[in-house]
Amino acid sequence: MKETVVSGIRPTGKLHLGNYFGAVTNFVKMQYDYNCFFFIADLHSLTTHPTPQDLHGYVKHVLVEYLACGIDPEQSTIYIQSDVPEVAELYLYLNMNAYLGELERSTSFKDKIRSQPNNVNAGLLTYPALMAADILIHRASKVPVGKDQEQHLEMTRTFGNRFNRLYNSEYFVEPFAFNYAKNLVKVPGLDGKGKMSKSEGDGNCIYLSDSPEIIRKKLLRAVTDSGPSVENQTKPEAIQNLFDLMNIVSSPDTIAHYDALYNNVAIRYGDLKKQIAEDMIIFNSPIRERIEELSKDNSYLRKVAEQGAVKARESAQKTMKEVRALIGFKSF
Ligand code: AMP
Repeated sequence: MKETVVSGIRPTGKLHLGNYFGAVTNFVKMQYDYNCFFFIADLHSLTTHPTPQDLHGYVKHVLVEYLACGIDPEQSTIYIQSDVPEVAELYLYLNMNAYLGELERSTSFKDKIRSQPNNVNAGLLTYPALMAADILIHRASKVPVGKDQEQHLEMTRTFGNRFNRLYNSEYFVEPFAFNYAKNLVKVPGLDGKGKMSKSEGDGNCIYLSDSPEIIRKKLLRAVTDSGPSVENQTKPEAIQNLFDLMNIVSSPDTIAHYDALYNNVAIRYGDLKKQIAEDMIIFNSPIRERIEELSKDNSYLRKVAEQGAVKARESAQKTMKEVRALIGFKSF
C-alpha cells in the first residue's frame, strides 16, 4: 500500500517562491508515488481575522495556484480544510492533551507574540494541535513542508504518541517532514534577513503570479551592502540570501560566474540582481500564465473542490470513527 502524504498552505494571500520550493514543488512530484492529500488551510488562516470576501479570494488563489503548479486533482486529493469538519473535532481531542508549556515554547508562537502583540489569540497558541489534526486525520507518514515547520512536525509526533499511550494503542503513525532536496528548504526574502514571508510585506516576496515588471522592480530594491573589500570573503546574510535565491532559479554556470566575481571583488550587484530577476521571470512565466487561465474557470474550480471534499471526508470519517471508539465514546 502507498504511504500517505498530507500538507497544506494557509490562504493569506498569493503563493510565493518560499511556498513553492519549500512545499508545492514536492507535492507535484510526490503525487505519483504516494496517496496524497493537499489542502487549503482556511481554518488556520482565521487567526489573522480575514474578512469573508478576503477569505474566499485567498482560498481561490491557493486552489488556482496549486493547480497551476501542476497538482493533478485526479492523482491527489485537493481540498479545503473547512470542508472537512472532522479536522476540527480531532483538534478538540488533541487539545485536551496538549500542554500550555509546550505550546508556549513553539518558536512560531513566540514570533507571533513579538510581531502582533495585540492579537495573541488562543488559535495561535493551539496552532500546532490543529496542524497535528490535519496530518493525523489521514494517518500520514510524510509531510512536505519547509524548514520553518520542522518543530511543528515534532509536536505532531508528540501529540500522536501521547494519544497512543493514553488509549493504549498504536493507532497514529509518526509523520516526518519531507523534501526531495537533501535538507528541508528555507527560501530567503529580499529584505536581507530571514525567510521569504508574507508577514514581512509584499516587497520581501516574489509571488508566483508576479509579472516580469514587478519581479524586476522587487529585485532592484533587494537589500545588499557596499560590496566585498577583500578576495574570498564570507558573504554577509543579505548577499548570501541573493545567492541562495539564484541557486533556486539560475543555472550552475551562472551561479559559478557570479560567485567568482564576488570572490575576485569584481561583482556589480546591479548585474547580479538583473540576472536573478530574468531567471525568475523564465521560471515564473508558465505558472503565471496558467494562473491567469485557471482563475477564469470557476466551474472547474468548484468541481475540483467538491471532488476533493468528498475524498478527504471519506478518509477523515474513517479515522474519526476509530478515534471515537478508542476514546470510549459508545452508543447504548
Ligand atoms: P504557510 O504560508 O506558513 O502556510 O506555509 C506554507 C508552506 O510553505 C509550509 O510548508 C512552509 O514550510 C512553506 N514555506 C513558507 N515560507 C517558506 C520559505 N521562506 N522557505 C521555505 N518554505 C516556506
